Amino acid sequence: MSEKPELSVIIPVFNEAGSLAELYNRLLPVIKAQAASYEIIFVDDGSSDGSLSAIEELAKQDHAVKAVSFSRNFGHMIALSAGLDKASGRAVITMDADLQHPPELIPELMAKWKAGAQVVNTRRGKGKGVGFFKRITAGIFYWLINRIAKVNLPANAADYRLLDEKVVATLKQVRERSRFLRGLIRWVGFKQEFVDYQPDKRFAGRTKYSVSRMIAFAIDGITSFSTFPLRLATYIGSCIAFLGALYIIYALYVRFFTDQAIEGWASVLIAVLFIGGVQLVFLGILGEYLGRVFEEVKARPLYIINKQIGF
Ligand code: UDP
Ligand code: MG
Repeated sequence: MSEKPELSVIIPVFNEAGSLAELYNRLLPVIKAQAASYEIIFVDDGSSDGSLSAIEELAKQDHAVKAVSFSRNFGHMIALSAGLDKASGRAVITMDADLQHPPELIPELMAKWKAGAQVVNTRRGKGKGVGFFKRITAGIFYWLINRIAKVNLPANAADYRLLDEKVVATLKQVRERSRFLRGLIRWVGFKQEFVDYQPDKRFAGRTKYSVSRMIAFAIDGITSFSTFPLRLATYIGSCIAFLGALYIIYALYVRFFTDQAIEGWASVLIAVLFIGGVQLVFLGILGEYLGRVFEEVKARPLYIINKQIGF
């Protein structure tokens, strides 16, 4: 048991009771064909639908099934991180519980690793599993982050990937709270490769990423890797100040060289409203960064474990 397994598979689970047995049944033959020893680590992210008892059931049949169960929902990225903290395999694969990440891709990931890659990322193709809305919003997001952030993210990166144990050891040292793993994994470097796959439809249940969660995820990604939005305040502020200076010159001209000084109510109103709006937007952006500083400074543990199985 204490021997280092060849392969660890990490699966974050938030109310996925309907998928777990099917996932295990499809995963097991693939893993067994690929690795002499393995562990499957489920991270129960505060599920309330019996996912934990389904995992316990699997753990009873198979001692290679292990689990960490959080005291509440901490979020997908944190669940993945807890799995990385616990994994001890020479190669570590992370994948979703809903079977959108086909287990049959694992041999390809392992082959690239055996050929020397230390990170094997996956890119989601146009498969039937992804809706129109998600494709459009993801497209905009990756375009934006690649333009303003200091990391290079391939469009449609998925949280389905293989990491070498060296990369896992590195990621364990990164303890920041708002963790945009896709970016962090590009940031750590090492020899990275890509594999394309076609996502399937969710096997059971519903997506856990609502629109508001996707927006929060996107803001986390951008603020973790870019301070460009802060600089934007300087740029836009300078432009407005320049236009303001021109307007002041014009106003002084009207005041001293003409006799129509009262006109211009509309332009004053527009200027006040516009500048007020711009100021509020940048106050909000400042708040986003300040809030993140606040979260990090508190340095609370990333997650709280209620129960462990198999460790
Ligand atoms: N997940 C999680 N915690 C959360 C939200 C999601 O552990 O707070 C898990 C979820 O159970 C699934 C994976 O993260 O295994 C991806 O979630 P989902 O399939 O809902 O996202 P989508 O594929 O729709 O982007
Ligand atoms: Mg999914």
